[in-house]
Amino acid sequence: MIARPEDAPRANPRFLIMGAGMSGLLAAIKLQEAGFDDFAIYEKADRLGGTWRENTYPGIACDVPSLMYSYSFAPNPEWSHRFSPGPEIQAYFEDVAREYGIAPLIHFGKEIVRCAFEGGRWRITLDDGSTDEGDFVIAATGVLHHPNLPHFEGLEDFEGAAFHSARWDHDVPLDGRRVGVVGTGSSAIQIVTALAERVEELVLFQRTPQWVMPIANPAFSEEEKAEFRRNPKAMEAVREQVGRAFVDGFSNILDEIDSPALRGIHDACVANLENSVKDPVLREKLRPNYRAACKRLVMSDGFYTAVQQPGSRLVTEPIERIEKSGVRTADGRLHELDVLVLATGFRVDRFMRPMEVVGRDGKTLDDAWGDNPTAYMAISIPGFPNLFMLNGPNGPVGNFSLIDVAEMQFGYIMQLVDRVRSSGGREIEVSEEAMALFDEERREAAKSTIWNSGCRSWYIAADGLPMAWPWTFDRFRAEMKSPRFDDYRVV
Ligand code: NAP
Repeated sequence: MIARPEDAPRANPRFLIMGAGMSGLLAAIKLQEAGFDDFAIYEKADRLGGTWRENTYPGIACDVPSLMYSYSFAPNPEWSHRFSPGPEIQAYFEDVAREYGIAPLIHFGKEIVRCAFEGGRWRITLDDGSTDEGDFVIAATGVLHHPNLPHFEGLEDFEGAAFHSARWDHDVPLDGRRVGVVGTGSSAIQIVTALAERVEELVLFQRTPQWVMPIANPAFSEEEKAEFRRNPKAMEAVREQVGRAFVDGFSNILDEIDSPALRGIHDACVANLENSVKDPVLREKLRPNYRAACKRLVMSDGFYTAVQQPGSRLVTEPIERIEKSGVRTADGRLHELDVLVLATGFRVDRFMRPMEVVGRDGKTLDDAWGDNPTAYMAISIPGFPNLFMLNGPNGPVGNFSLIDVAEMQFGYIMQLVDRVRSSGGREIEVSEEAMALFDEERREAAKSTIWNSGCRSWYIAADGLPMAWPWTFDRFRAEMKSPRFDDYRVV
């Protein structure tokens, strides 16, 4: 047992940051800015970037506008498109980390396997057995990073190449080959759109059709970029305008199922299907039987063209098993393939896990969460003092800029840190009562969101209800501005 440090708050507390993705970098930059210089960032991989390091599939892009999907303090006049491709986003994070002097502070190839609150401090153990200690932990481990691998019988017998969309094997040739894609989420839609013209045959295995919102993705012209460089305020104004339109037209009304705006999104998706898919049989196969935006809204202006390419085939029969030469569907047909891509999503109940996180009195994260992760304001968990999550469970997810969310959350966390320090305490922890009330209200509100309007999606938690922030985005912003300190205990 580590001796409990003296009771006075440390003049210069030490922070441990888990992960060097978008949120971890943000935490490091903001800590520096706030004058804290004692922190360490641990990253299990050998490169920063999180989602954008791991997802390198053909066609990867961010369907949140680039001007919104960038740090507010590091606007980027160089984005090539309204919705920029993944490698550009990865390069952006690497540039920002370099510019702010963060890159050398990251401990790469160091996986935290245990994080325990002992004697009033957090002690982490790394996979090489070494340890570190800190006063505060910022868990910036991401949401969508544990691939969901379906249990298809015979998958190991497949003689072609098979991999998950987030584990793309770039050594496998694609041109002129027969490629199967399982899934119709945002990843699959981008992959199919990118591959349909390249491969000899593209077979899309669809379990559930998706509504597809058409989006044009024009490049920024050289003149526009020059103007952004010359006049950052103009770029900021566009960011504000795009952000406001998105909040008012989508993220503030997710519980207003019959609002004209959500109806309008649905109608736009229906029109896209009607206008884009000629063959009535194919059109009906692609038509969902639930409301648009019930699942995460897929944005694409090329998907319907891709599935109508001469070499594309949509398969709606359920997959029965995988055989050495391809996929056998329930109608008995064998779909012979060279490559099988599993764009089957992620295990979304993991967060920091499989890391063993042990809070006060030996309470583990598994004890606290089981299959239903929850966090007060998507940040704090009772029993886990001085540990804060960025983009934790119950936060705004989906078609949002998670950068915006993380920035707001970090501002909130800094207020908690200030509070504990200014009050002469050492620990700050959300109360069980506040967590229970938050969760009760959240679950009640979740029932009337569009996500609960009758579809299966990764938004739905093990308890059957949408896990995401169910209120308006403006409410989230307001909550983040000033914590309800009465919901926290400082000791
Ligand atoms: P996803 O949305 O969870 O989609 C997984 C797909 O795999 C679904 O179509 C699902 O079918 C299918 N599937 C899963 N298990 C299956 C099985 N056993 N048999 C047949 N089909 C199966 O995953 P994703 O496409 O990777 O996207 C996850 C999230 O990542 C997105 O919602 C988004 O938040 C983020 N993302 C963002 C972008 C972006 O541009 N910003 C791009 C890609 C991903 P069902 O629908 O029937 O369950």
